[in-house]
Amino acid sequence: MNIVKSVLFSPEVIAQRVKELGAEITSDYKDKEVLFLGILKGAFLFMSDLCRYVDVKMEFDFMEVSSYSGGTYSTGQVRILKDIDTNIEDKNILIVEDIVDNGLTLDYLVNYIKVRQPRSLKICALLDKRAHRKVLLKIDYIGFDCPDEFVLGYGLDYGEFYRNLPFIGVLNEEFISYPKNVL
Ligand code: 5GP
Repeated sequence: MNIVKSVLFSPEVIAQRVKELGAEITSDYKDKEVLFLGILKGAFLFMSDLCRYVDVKMEFDFMEVSSYSGGTYSTGQVRILKDIDTNIEDKNILIVEDIVDNGLTLDYLVNYIKVRQPRSLKICALLDKRAHRKVLLKIDYIGFDCPDEFVLGYGLDYGEFYRNLPFIGVLNEEFISYPKNVL
């Protein structure tokens, strides 16, 4: 039995789309500085690939938040596990997120960051899973629309594993009932 039911986005398709996003961001931030705020852990691969295609002066920071219980559903309660190190006042912030599902995590982060008075705030999400969206969010850059499935790979985990898969796949739900240590 394979943990992946089907491959949604191959490494080649991801690489092409990341390149396109990078070009778009480069043109939008021309002559400006930007701070890429990566949301750990899921966005670490996406952000490191994306930034190589963005040709503007940039700095980096990271936040780590937890909204899932380690399973396949969102608890809706966001906990900050790692806060921003930088003073973001008057800076152009681009949040780089792996996937937006019900939207509560990003909604929380946007409010958290806005209070710190950045000059501008935009969002770049690799995957947009709209089926269960609970809040209205403007996502400025979207990699792919995502079906209503639990996906893993390319930074996205299942129970903290499988982030290193080079593609994005759909979780084989037969695994959901298995205890973690047999996966
Ligand atoms: P939201 O608050 O929008 O429902 O959840 C956002 C976070 O939940 C994402 O940053 C990600 O960590 C996690 N998440 C949502 N959907 C999926 C999914 O299909 N697969 C994985 N691995 N994580 C997901």
